[in-house]
Amino acid sequence: MTQQTESKFAYYLGNTMYINLTNKCTNKCVFCIRSSGDSVGGVNLVLEDENFTHDEVIEEVKNAFSDKCREIVFCGYGEPLIKLDIIKKVAGFIKQNHPDIPIRINTNGHGNLIHKRNVVPELVGLIDKISISLNADTEELYSELTNPVFEKSIAYQGVKNFMKECSQNGIETTATVVSGFGNYKIDIEKCRQIAEALGVKFRVREWLPQGYDI
Ligand code: SF4
Repeated sequence: MTQQTESKFAYYLGNTMYINLTNKCTNKCVFCIRSSGDSVGGVNLVLEDENFTHDEVIEEVKNAFSDKCREIVFCGYGEPLIKLDIIKKVAGFIKQNHPDIPIRINTNGHGNLIHKRNVVPELVGLIDKISISLNADTEELYSELTNPVFEKSIAYQGVKNFMKECSQNGIETTATVVSGFGNYKIDIEKCRQIAEALGVKFRVREWLPQGYDI
């Protein structure tokens, strides 16, 4: 007898299906929800084992899919683009079977730094939208807020390059900033100008103790 197992990768908030592929990240943000609990919107996002295949994720997406689904977002308790190969396979499955459902990635923008190559062309045709954390108006503040594993000059510039690359490849790209956390003075207007200069949209996310608006 097969038993229904609790979902590991796919969960819903409203009409959006979120897919959580990793708990690893190349940042250690001061405002990260990982440091304030195990869940977002009451959903436990801790993966006990990161050794899984794309087939396991696809199987779960298949089971979780319902008529209420309006958007699918790769986002979770870590940096989704660490699992680039799985994203490509799962997004390919979704595009083939549910071509009308837009697919987004919420990322820290380190994709090209992580993989040491330009991965953006590999996402074209699979990913419709990408939301990238700009976080700050200077590399110093970026580094202070996110504690990246990459050198600060490389990390912040890398994020901006990634945004530009995504936008130039036709992916709808939004730069995001978390506002309202602690006493950090983020110049929102300057961030908006940076986003505009990069040719991408801009969105401010309000920080909430139970997980910000994703
Ligand atoms: S990039 Fe996201 S997952 Fe990674 S530490 Fe920052 S807030 Fe957390």
